[in-house]
Amino acid sequence: MTSPYWLEEPRETFPQRRVKHAEVAVVGGGITGCSCALSLARGGASVRLFEARQIAEGASGRNGGFALRGGAAGYPDAKEWLGADQAREYWAWTEGYLDRIEELAGDAFRRTGSLRLANDASEREELRAEVDALLADGFAAEWVDEPGGVLAGRFPAAILHPPDGVLQPARLVRRVAALAAEAGAEIREQERVETVTDIDADVVIVATDGYPSGLLGPIEGLIVPTRAQMLATAPLPEVLFERPHYGRHGFDYWHQRADGTLLVGGFRDVSMESEFTADEAVTEPIQRALERFVSELFGHEPEIVNRWAGIFGLVTDLMPVVGRVPGEDRLWVAGGYSGHGMVLGFACGDLVAEAVRGRPAPLLGLFRPERLLL
Ligand SMILES: Cc1cc2nc3c(=O)[nH]c(=O)nc-3n(C[C@H](O)[C@H](O)[C@H](O)COP(=O)(O)OP(=O)(O)OC[C@H]3O[C@@H](n4cnc5c(N)ncnc54)[C@H](O)[C@@H]3O)c2cc1C
Repeated sequence: MTSPYWLEEPRETFPQRRVKHAEVAVVGGGITGCSCALSLARGGASVRLFEARQIAEGASGRNGGFALRGGAAGYPDAKEWLGADQAREYWAWTEGYLDRIEELAGDAFRRTGSLRLANDASEREELRAEVDALLADGFAAEWVDEPGGVLAGRFPAAILHPPDGVLQPARLVRRVAALAAEAGAEIREQERVETVTDIDADVVIVATDGYPSGLLGPIEGLIVPTRAQMLATAPLPEVLFERPHYGRHGFDYWHQRADGTLLVGGFRDVSMESEFTADEAVTEPIQRALERFVSELFGHEPEIVNRWAGIFGLVTDLMPVVGRVPGEDRLWVAGGYSGHGMVLGFACGDLVAEAVRGRPAPLLGLFRPERLLL
């Protein structure tokens, strides 16, 4: 009952490599670590990846499966905080990585678009500002006034984001790991790294997002472990939500698989304090809120087949944390996506790989770890 829906799918096998000396060690076998290992191995570096459990068993195999462009904050906020040019560059950069995901994911990704819903009049105003800002900067977006069908009367407006899509996230991450192994990366599962000094490598990249690794020195704990919970129903007769749907500032999110299975997550705000934890347990109040929401959407109580929780890393300014760890010579970090990490994790894994190889990494300045210490 408490097993993540995505992880029940059998794993595809991947080649077992051994490298003599690792120039780069990557800690964490989620989307960030696997993307980083792929980029490094394809770039000719010798790389060894350590995962405490199995590939994709952290948040990358426990999430909603939404592949969304942009950052965790809305586009107008990003423009205000970063300035218009950098916000535009940031959003366009993530769209480029959505394209790259589509190229390598095969049937682990479908470009369905996503529907960001307004829950009330004030959220409607926010979405109006968002769609105007996106369109003014040349991004594809469509305003939906009073969504119809099963959404009619519940949500006053929505934005359709055409570039977005839906993932089988565990399948994607395992595929990225397989590609990394094919390119020569050594992947060590069931191997927890206890201290950085234990690792024989020139550079160590910690890619553990919200899971406390104990490896991050001065910034340990500043990417705050935050729990999110989900459930999956037995297949429902009608597929009403093929694309990702999300509302209440992302607090609620849901979509259906092709067989009718409904996956719903969120309602963290029912019990906000208890969800600042790294414990992957499900809890009664949040699971009840998710069930109530499903009953309201469908008018009856479907059978619940899976319930699960995962941990993501929250950062107060909602920006990723990528770069060399302050005061450390060979230690780097990539994480802190504030619940928006599948496309960003894929992108930031590549970004940190480029940076440690000394190649141009233009957006690195936005994600500097030093800012966490200010
Ligand atoms: C319920 C839920 C729903 C979400 N929904 C979405 C969504 O729909 N779309 C989206 O974009 N994002 C979503 N997110 C966020 C997204 O899943 C994460 O941001 C993303 O998966 C982070 O990937 P990662 O590779 O950086 O970290 P993870 O996938 O968490 O991987 C980190 C890995 O590090 C390992 N590890 C930790 N410490 C050590 C150590 N010392 N040694 C070795 N290994 C270690 C862990 O076992 C873990 O497997 C959601 C998150 C949750 C929890």
